[in-house]
Amino acid sequence: MSTKNTPRTPFVGGNWKMNTNASEGAALIRSIVDGLGSTSVDVAVYPPFVYIREIAAITNGSSVQVGAQDLYHASNGAFTGEISTDMLKDCSVSTVLTGHSERRHVLQETNELVNQKTKAALNAGLTTVLCIGETLDQREHGKTDAVNEAQIRSGLDGVSKADLSNLIIAYEPVWAIGTGMTATPDDAQDAHHAIRELIANMYDQDAADAIRIIYGGSMKPANAGELLAMPDIDGGLIGGASLVAGDFGAIIEAANVRAATLVG
Ligand code: PEP
Repeated sequence: MSTKNTPRTPFVGGNWKMNTNASEGAALIRSIVDGLGSTSVDVAVYPPFVYIREIAAITNGSSVQVGAQDLYHASNGAFTGEISTDMLKDCSVSTVLTGHSERRHVLQETNELVNQKTKAALNAGLTTVLCIGETLDQREHGKTDAVNEAQIRSGLDGVSKADLSNLIIAYEPVWAIGTGMTATPDDAQDAHHAIRELIANMYDQDAADAIRIIYGGSMKPANAGELLAMPDIDGGLIGGASLVAGDFGAIIEAANVRAATLVG
């Protein structure tokens, strides 16, 4: 498959993880919104559940989407501690992460659970960012593409081509998340290209050309430009650097440059 220079709108998401308190989160989102200006990039932030309402109130009227870091696939009932898609939508959430490596590896989420959550999120009309990626050991044993394929095939089991239009794949090598180590642009491009080929095989070429595949793993202002210059890297999922409004803004700016290049 050749990579088409398709003008997929870049997506930049800020995963705040279990960071900030109410006032820090409010100050951070105010700085992000104030610094944004006009943009050709889809921008989202994923604050902790308990602050979502306050953050959403501040983003109201801006182009920043508010997302959730997780969800539960049942609609309601005896699931202590869990949050449904209806509850998220009630709090103005329009996008959600599934399968983040910390949920897979720290909280032991299985491929099956990630699939259930992914389908529930898509059924609810939420833009769903399905996170996948290999561990260092898997990379060193040459298993990167096989691990990505297994996680995508199971994550998307039962997901139709139509639903795919509201899905983003985040390739996040586990060894690069929160470590300061980043995949080289060429290595990340190779992984993204293989993922796009897989989507062509599982669905068709149109779906592969249209789907956004974003990179996550210590993306920061210093490396965002070269990563986002790669033909198959359609944006970023940002952890640490999303907690500093200026750094997050600089990454969005790098994605704006990508958008201008693709259109121009
Ligand atoms: C993430 O949490 O998805 C992530 C990529 O984190 P970091 O940017 O800190 O590596």
